[in-house]
Amino acid sequence: MDLYEHQARQLFAEHGIAVPRAEVVDNANAAQQAARRLGGRVVVKAQVKTGGRGKAGGVKPAADPAAAALAARGILGMDIKGHTVRTVMLAEPVDIEAEFYVSYVLDRAAGTFLAIASAEGGMEIEEVAATRPDAVARIPVDPAEGVTEGKARQIAEAARLPLEAAPVLSLLWQVLSREDALLVEVNPLVRTTTGQILALDGKVSLDDNAGFRRSRRGADTDDPHGDPLEAEAAAKGLNYVKLDGEVGIIGNGAGLVMSTLDVVAGCGARPANFLDIGGGASARVMADGLSVILSDPGVKSVLVNVFGGITACDAVADGIVQALETVRLAKPLVVRLDGNNAPRGRAILDARAHPLIQQATTMDDAARRAARLADAA
Ligand code: GDP
Ligand code: MN
Repeated sequence: MDLYEHQARQLFAEHGIAVPRAEVVDNANAAQQAARRLGGRVVVKAQVKTGGRGKAGGVKPAADPAAAALAARGILGMDIKGHTVRTVMLAEPVDIEAEFYVSYVLDRAAGTFLAIASAEGGMEIEEVAATRPDAVARIPVDPAEGVTEGKARQIAEAARLPLEAAPVLSLLWQVLSREDALLVEVNPLVRTTTGQILALDGKVSLDDNAGFRRSRRGADTDDPHGDPLEAEAAAKGLNYVKLDGEVGIIGNGAGLVMSTLDVVAGCGARPANFLDIGGGASARVMADGLSVILSDPGVKSVLVNVFGGITACDAVADGIVQALETVRLAKPLVVRLDGNNAPRGRAILDARAHPLIQQATTMDDAARRAARLADAA
């Protein structure tokens, strides 16, 4: 999960990395008041989970609170690479003497972490990396050893960063390791005209697999701008991804669900989602999954494709019958059950005899029917 800049800088501060004072607001009026509290002069920055805000006009200096309100009004609602700006951060301005780039990133190919650092940070870092790779140091970091004082000095020297920046390299490593992040980036890390080292921008991507260790920070898990159905599904422990099509898809096992998506697309229809009820799914999970899919207004038909293994088909059928008790089925459902206890599962659905439920024996046939039903709806 990617964090917003203001969340990233909060983590930096908790680990002892200096950041300018700042406040986050969602309207121009509040921006004016926040600017006043921050001393009048501020930098107004779009809060979106993408880079290149500066180049897109999403970072604006303001000389006084009235100018801050004006800048906030201009930036709020802006679209930056497909992300709508809903909040802005106002930060105390800083007199920059030099801008550096530092990051730690998981290098999956090498099976280790990599420190990437450059004395030429700022908005042109991609350009620098592409045209003069020697200006960007890349040093492997053994996660078992971490970034000791010596290692921090080694990285700073390789990148030609001033030695005063070395402690930040160790602190930034702490952010990565203690917060279970897969990526931490500061661009720019600056030296101010008064010699302070400050993190002016921050990017942090947390490892979702460590989410259970972060439950103390509730705010991390609810992204107010995420898809509400995805949030509901996540709360129910479902592996659900919303897509734009019309055919809702439920299957067991990521491989089967992905092939089902392909077969549905092959029939000329568009999948409305990816929902994997997983191995060993209970009737409850099936019922939860179905209710999530049926509440997506884009869904015109639903295809349930289950190959019973650890998940027995009769449990899946029970789940569908259970779901019918709590959600009103107003869309056609095509069910294909195969594998463990398939005859029993089919018998359960036959017995229920719901007019909107039909059964198919092959994945191709099921996908064709679901596509046709979506098209006719
Ligand atoms: P990004 O474009 O999304 O990476 O946004 P940044 O937060 O990195 O801001 C872009 C650029 O704006 C930085 O590289 C700085 O040059 C400049 N900038 C950001 N904050 C300040 C500040 O407080 N003072 C000054 N002088 N420049 C700033
Ligand atoms: Mn930046």
